[in-house]
Amino acid sequence: MRPSRATIDLDALRHNYRHARTLGDGKALAVVKADAYGHGAVACARALEAEADGFGVACIEEALELREAGIRAPVVLLEGFFDADELALVERHDLWTVVASPWQVDALERHRAARPWQVWLKLDSGMHRLGLSPDEYLDAWRRLRALSWIEGMVAMSHFSRADELSHPSTRDQLAAFDAALAQLPAGTPASIANSAALMAWPGTRRDWVRPGLMLYGSHMLDAPRAEADALRAVMRLESKVIAVRELAAGEPIGYAGTFITTRPTRVGVVAAGYADGYPQYATSGTPVIIDGRPGELIGRVSMDMLTVDLTDHPAAGLGSRIELWGPGLPVAEVAARSGNSPYRLLTGLKRVPRRYIGGG
Ligand SMILES: *Cc1c(COP(=O)(O)O)cnc(C)c1O
Repeated sequence: MRPSRATIDLDALRHNYRHARTLGDGKALAVVKADAYGHGAVACARALEAEADGFGVACIEEALELREAGIRAPVVLLEGFFDADELALVERHDLWTVVASPWQVDALERHRAARPWQVWLKLDSGMHRLGLSPDEYLDAWRRLRALSWIEGMVAMSHFSRADELSHPSTRDQLAAFDAALAQLPAGTPASIANSAALMAWPGTRRDWVRPGLMLYGSHMLDAPRAEADALRAVMRLESKVIAVRELAAGEPIGYAGTFITTRPTRVGVVAAGYADGYPQYATSGTPVIIDGRPGELIGRVSMDMLTVDLTDHPAAGLGSRIELWGPGLPVAEVAARSGNSPYRLLTGLKRVPRRYIGGG
């Protein structure tokens, strides 16, 4: 069998969720959209089910996958519903939905509910993607509040730059959020913090925090924080050396000859490539772990293979284990070598079988 695999450590996932919950000091919505950032939504939700206050997904398809797997915890549709036709399904499966546009308020006013609903009303506090503008917000709140079947409402918003620790945008967005909250009844539950805000901006933690990336043990904070040091990587992507060759100095390696040896070089060919989700344009010098020791990628990544420098790893050879990211090598570091983010690399995992450790 092809030796590439992703090992998912569910103990690490639970550790990270508990860490998020402790930092938040309120409820924590475990964000498992995009197949739990490539880790497997059902497996991750099951591993967290006993302790998670709820799960966040992008859309109804993802929510139904959790419900079909027997997950009974609250599930929030973070992107809301896309069509009024979906409201019957939202109700049948007892999903909580985000409302972010005036047309959705209209649709809810027309809906005839047979059971109580929970709605998260989203404010655009400055990201300018989804959310009602500050001018629209109070009116939308009142209209939804007037519907007898809407039992609970959470005021929410989302940050655009919370991983930039000295940028004023997070403070400005928080001020806009607080100004909107001040118009709502005292005690209205609020939620604005994603992973970065939860770890780096303590003032943003409110009734519900919404950790995503940090659950999987990664972050993009641009300055050190102890809150991030406590995270444990959940995914280890690894494969093995399937061929070794000895090259003289001056020889090109791989497509486009982007790397030319500068010394006699032992090259290890590894069974992992961009069709597995490894970044195609990771540059020569991108770190890898060779049998537990730091090493480097050399040459262009191909669809099914990549090449590493074994010259300084005399004990390594055929069958050597190559960790591409994981506990020994932060995925964010690998991502940075190709202008990518850890979000993109984790959610981009393909073809590689996932193996779970750490119990269900
Ligand atoms: C994806 C998402 C999150 C989680 O973001 P991270 O940066 O991964 O922590 C939180 N809230 C909303 C609305 C999201 O869409």
